[in-house]
Amino acid sequence: MLDWSEPSASPRQTPPPVVVQFVTQAEQTGLGMIDRRGGRVSVDDKRMINCRADVNQLLPLKYKWAWEKYLAGCNNHWMPTEVSMQADIALWKSRDGLTEDERRAIKRNLGFFAASESLVANNIVLAIYRHLTNPECRQYLLRQSFEEAVHTHTFQYIVESLGLDEGELFNMYREVPSITDKAAWALKHTQHLDNPDFRTGTPQADQAFLRDLVAFYVIFEGMWFYTGFAQILSLGRRNKMVGIAEQYQYILRDESIHLNFGIDVINQIKIENPHLWTKAFQDEVRAMVREAAELEAAYGRDTMPRGFLGLNAALCESYMHFIANRRCAQLGLQRVFDETENPFPWMSEAMDLKKEKNFFETRVIEYQNGGALSWE
Ligand code: MN
Ligand code: FE
Repeated sequence: MLDWSEPSASPRQTPPPVVVQFVTQAEQTGLGMIDRRGGRVSVDDKRMINCRADVNQLLPLKYKWAWEKYLAGCNNHWMPTEVSMQADIALWKSRDGLTEDERRAIKRNLGFFAASESLVANNIVLAIYRHLTNPECRQYLLRQSFEEAVHTHTFQYIVESLGLDEGELFNMYREVPSITDKAAWALKHTQHLDNPDFRTGTPQADQAFLRDLVAFYVIFEGMWFYTGFAQILSLGRRNKMVGIAEQYQYILRDESIHLNFGIDVINQIKIENPHLWTKAFQDEVRAMVREAAELEAAYGRDTMPRGFLGLNAALCESYMHFIANRRCAQLGLQRVFDETENPFPWMSEAMDLKKEKNFFETRVIEYQNGGALSWE
């Protein structure tokens, strides 16, 4: 049984001596001339970043936690088109099944996710993949990339099913300020890596890489997505938009693994490069988490100006504080907000699809489950 809930139990190794080494571009990508006389890779040669060992050799495995997450992702395979949208279509087209406030929250929620899944996918493929010099981590990134494609597909399927305005939805990340602010904040942290001359290997560059990992894995996927899930699953609990709610449950299950992979990656890089995890850098990461929670609170006020049954901006904000503190703990950092109780305790059950099946009374396909994944 897999449990991703505990702060990265997996990567535990004694720190190697600090060696800042420059790796050639070919060593980093794995696409250079073949070294015909090179020795075989030994486990001890493998490193998360700035690794000289051949990145084209998956075995011998060093980071079993990465391989396990790859397997768990494969065991969770699903496609959005397998979920029936009939009830959602009827409710969306009905005159008084949903309040205007609920419609606003649903549309903005879909608009936030529709482009965000692509931002996350592009960051993995174009920024992270190249600099993470470990084949088992890359194997997981390839799986994750496909899952992000499935998630983007989900929003295409929802737009088509409900007959939504595709231009309105897919442009919200540019046109709705509270959504744009979040996307722009995250993009700011990947732009360094987008520079074709960017190379890891100096403390400064390696910290820029860590910042990107924090922005996308811990904050985008690990904080902002979670309030998004809470909004839709809260409606699902009231039997509204049950098809979308079911799809969000599958996405949530995938994202919980993405998040925990990201946490493990960061913690393993810390172990191998303790000189990067300075007090100043830790403060910076905590400030990023705090700032991200504030952006989310503003988004909550914008998407739910009045709130509705079981959900409002204040509840979402305290939920964000709870999550922010939890993410800090997972990274071994001090919390950033006062201790807060989880205002949505039912969210931790949302991962357990079998339990929710009767509740939603929809057709749930019995995928092989990677075990009861704790959603946090
Ligand atoms: Mn996703
Ligand atoms: Fe993801």
